[in-house]
Amino acid sequence: MPDITRAQLNAYLDDSLSDRETAVVEQALRDSEVLRRGLRAIMQERDRGEHSIGAIWRRQRLSCPPREQLGSYLLQVLDSDLQDYIEFHLKTIACPFCLANVTDLQALQQEAEPQTRKRRQRIFDSSHGYLSVCRDTTK
Ligand SMILES: [Zn+2]
Repeated sequence: MPDITRAQLNAYLDDSLSDRETAVVEQALRDSEVLRRGLRAIMQERDRGEHSIGAIWRRQRLSCPPREQLGSYLLQVLDSDLQDYIEFHLKTIACPFCLANVTDLQALQQEAEPQTRKRRQRIFDSSHGYLSVCRDTTK
């Protein structure tokens, strides 16, 4: 089994290894519970750490989008750049502040949902009726 150093694990987490090195680290992780535990410990340290970009952002909320943007993100009506950025902020940075906001907004949007569904159903019903009329005329 190749010896994986802490520096290599850090580089692995930073996604800065070559494909070959990444494969070696991943294989070693699969083979070794000790190594997996080591990786988890490094990830936890990073979460707590003062130096990770994620921690700095979380602490200062430098990059948090305003609540209106989070709402627009859920509706997927933003520019794709902004959409991507917010997705990164929520899924990769996992900003707890914004995730809480999004959960809240989702609940609000779900409350509004039955109305939207009713409207869609109406449109569907009317086009369905229209289609069956068309079909009837071809008989
Ligand atoms: Zn945020």
